[in-house]
Amino acid sequence: MKPALIDQPVGALIGDRTARALGNDLAIETVGDLLRHYPRRYAERGELTDLDSLQVDEHVTVMAEVASVKARAMKQRKGTVLEVVVTDGRGELTLTFFNQAWRQRDLRVGRRGLFSGKVGVFNRKRQLAHPDYVLVADSADDQEAPDAAEAAMTFAGSLIPVYPASAALPSWRVAKCVQAALDVIGEVPDPLPDEVRRDLGLVGLGEAFRLVHRPAARSDVARARERLVFEEAFVLQVELARRRAASAALPAVPRIAGEGGLLDAFDARLPFTLTDGQRTIGEVLAAELARTHPMHRLLQGEVGSGKTVVAVRAMLAVVDAGGQAALLAPTEVLAQQHHRSITELLGPLAERGLLGGSDTGTRVALLTGSQGSAARRQALLDVTSGTAGIVVGTHALLQEHVEFFDLGLVVVDEQHRFGVEQRAALAAKGAKPPHVLVMTATPIPRTVAMTVFGDLETSTLRELPAGRSPISTHVVPAGEKPHFLERAWHRLREEVAAGHQAYVVCPRIGDAQGDDGLEAVAGTEGPGSATPGRPPLAVLEVAPTLAEGPLSGLRLAVLHGRLPADQKDDAMRRFAAGEVDVLVATTVVEVGVDVPNATAMVVLDADRFGVSQLHQLRGRVGRGSAPGLCLLVTDVPDDSPAAERLSAVAATLDGFELARLDLEQRREGDVLGATQHGRRSSLRLLSVLRDESVIVRAREAASALVAADPELSEHDVLRAAVASLVDAERAEYLEKA
Ligand code: ADP
Ligand code: MG
Repeated sequence: MKPALIDQPVGALIGDRTARALGNDLAIETVGDLLRHYPRRYAERGELTDLDSLQVDEHVTVMAEVASVKARAMKQRKGTVLEVVVTDGRGELTLTFFNQAWRQRDLRVGRRGLFSGKVGVFNRKRQLAHPDYVLVADSADDQEAPDAAEAAMTFAGSLIPVYPASAALPSWRVAKCVQAALDVIGEVPDPLPDEVRRDLGLVGLGEAFRLVHRPAARSDVARARERLVFEEAFVLQVELARRRAASAALPAVPRIAGEGGLLDAFDARLPFTLTDGQRTIGEVLAAELARTHPMHRLLQGEVGSGKTVVAVRAMLAVVDAGGQAALLAPTEVLAQQHHRSITELLGPLAERGLLGGSDTGTRVALLTGSQGSAARRQALLDVTSGTAGIVVGTHALLQEHVEFFDLGLVVVDEQHRFGVEQRAALAAKGAKPPHVLVMTATPIPRTVAMTVFGDLETSTLRELPAGRSPISTHVVPAGEKPHFLERAWHRLREEVAAGHQAYVVCPRIGDAQGDDGLEAVAGTEGPGSATPGRPPLAVLEVAPTLAEGPLSGLRLAVLHGRLPADQKDDAMRRFAAGEVDVLVATTVVEVGVDVPNATAMVVLDADRFGVSQLHQLRGRVGRGSAPGLCLLVTDVPDDSPAAERLSAVAATLDGFELARLDLEQRREGDVLGATQHGRRSSLRLLSVLRDESVIVRAREAASALVAADPELSEHDVLRAAVASLVDAERAEYLEKA
């Protein structure tokens, strides 16, 4: 088969210089790339661009009308400047040309055209220096346009596509290349199978290219987009369905808990009854662990819904069956806490081989990057020998020399901080592929789950354990009403006086040298503050101030990411044991930290944090039977967007609702996460935020297709499209590594 025109280099159609510019400036290599270089927007014949909306330094293409023309001699040098002011009827933009007075002949008052260049500022007015332009013919028989043939061609329709362009290649030159491709493209091989297209009433790919690049009306663009968006979702979902199918076909060791074994003993010891959700998901996990193929499941749940216990029960089933389970946590604080709480929940069941330990029991090992070498050696030994049935750790678990005796299950907590590659690295440590359970505390909208975690099946814990008291959240406008802040500290003292504990959270660590940054853990930085003029508050500065001032006499401790492991552990341990009243911390306490006696939290500079992050943070209080209180302190004015964000957090405890809100305020790339570059760039039109119904339909169609034809042997074009998606993801991953 001769390669389709669409796969040939653009040089086959257009001149070498232009082809090189397309490649260098716009990463367009093939005819297909060119046709998938979609217009950013469409200028409407007769409709002018809003000039006030132009941003300085932006490369723009605007439709405007010449308002005045003036040529003058330059003062410092020889030569002339031609200043042409164009307008959209309200705003103005100055075009300047040096020593090109002859352009006055074209650029006459009243003429309209497309002008393209980088927006600069001169004499406090926005201008384009030496812009490229094409004038629109005044009428069909206008012979005066400088390049009448080109103008007529570009502006044949009433909608003029405006392309992402560069200095060397203004929009209309890109358009010209695209039009040249459209003229010769003919039949286009279509990755969407006919039956899928027919079922959904979508146009073919060739038709979509024509409609998107040569629309007669807005409805043409809509029909093209509908199909192109679907295709993006579909190709991705086909790949994800194939990954699900492939991992479902891998061999795995079935892990079935023994009757009257470790899991039963654990259940009998549990100080509470499982919620319905915990029980049901427990059954799903048990059934999947018992299969001869690996489980790949995402467990997402509201903050405090009790995911840990669900994971521990799955791990115990595996240990019961003679295997080992690893729990991977994103931070040292969290790993330490998991280690502590799992050990506690297990009680004598975690003391196998020790005096008084249970014979059905096991051991729980902890492996972190900064633990002492003796502790580390012992832990490694327990992992390798199989003495430790449960291994809790951070990234340190991923290192090559960590060898398991028989790894049967990998649990990844708070997955949003781990990349797919890290998940894979851990999974590779089993002799046969282990079962995998991924947990995320940030509730994520369904579309994101389907896109980012699309190779996993999903379970959701929606309910909180009974007996939880609600958390009440209030915004404290300390900037406008400083005495409110005093009241906040007063409330905090009251909680402590009542025998409870509290957190104070700051955005920054702070240090004497002043070379510190925010406590930035990947993917969790807030959207930035609206309080310029002072640095965000820092733990190391706030803690002493509180100790001498509003919280004097209380037992304070600090916790942040730069403390050595043993000091972090010590601070958390003393706080959990009730030896510390107030923990002044960064976002290291954001996820997972669980101290039920802590009832109050004051978040300083709350406007620095994102919506989901605040929701996570406040999930640290209200974990016991006493009501929780969360105070969001901010200096930003009442009517600012940041203040609205805080009010939204204060108004609801529904994490799914807040996750949606959070998404709306983020950019697409952030949503897909730092580890998803390839996937991001393969999605040109599809929005994970907006196109929920498209993603759902694409997933259904993709699953059905892959079930019927797992190798895609009946679908050559689709197979090639999926392969190039995978290549793009891999290439970007390698580039990053
Ligand atoms: P998250 O889902 O946010 O990770 P955790 O697993 O940390 O939540 O659980 C939060 C707290 O709820 C823990 O102290 C845990 O022991 C407790 N818990 C879990 N399940 C139940 C239950 N069914 N009834 C009462 N308390 C529970
Ligand atoms: Mg948790």
